[in-house]
Amino acid sequence: MKKNLKPNCFAIALFFLTPIGCTYNKSSSTDLMVNNQQIATEINPQTARTDCDTLVITCIDYRFALANQEFMNNTLGLKDNYDHISIPGSIYNLVNPETRELLFSKFALSVKLHLINRVVIISHKDCGGYGGSASFGSEIAENETLCADLRNARALLIEKYPTLEVNLFLESLVKEGDELKVHFEKIP
Ligand SMILES: [Zn+2]
Repeated sequence: MKKNLKPNCFAIALFFLTPIGCTYNKSSSTDLMVNNQQIATEINPQTARTDCDTLVITCIDYRFALANQEFMNNTLGLKDNYDHISIPGSIYNLVNPETRELLFSKFALSVKLHLINRVVIISHKDCGGYGGSASFGSEIAENETLCADLRNARALLIEKYPTLEVNLFLESLVKEGDELKVHFEKIP
């Protein structure tokens, strides 16, 4: 944490459900206090503006963190143009009535501050927020539940913000040779 303030601080900050990203692009640099030392991080001047188009909602799971960033930045071409809410269980918190309002309140902040018009929700298999793959009983049951929750989350968001575009993705760890790779599947 002392030295590595790069992508990891992103996820850690988001653990506290704070929409970040473009909010802090108002100046050319951002000063952070870490262990009583002030550290300045450079912000790309080209993105020093106060709005962005897209909000991304993901789980905090470290196994997917880097792949999520690469997916947003490169595959979807959203580099420097998205807010990011990272929360254990991803949209489980939106479909669960007990935590729905909390997530909606943070979501509303992103809408209000940045006038976002698109939400990308990424859910993943073997999610601790659901108790892991084992809690579903079978791969098919897990797939069906996660897809149903993604679609339910989309419906809830569109009910509240009818003009939003909401894109759904389900990711999983897949063994390729000796390596584990993250696969993204678009859910219609
Ligand atoms: Zn998870």
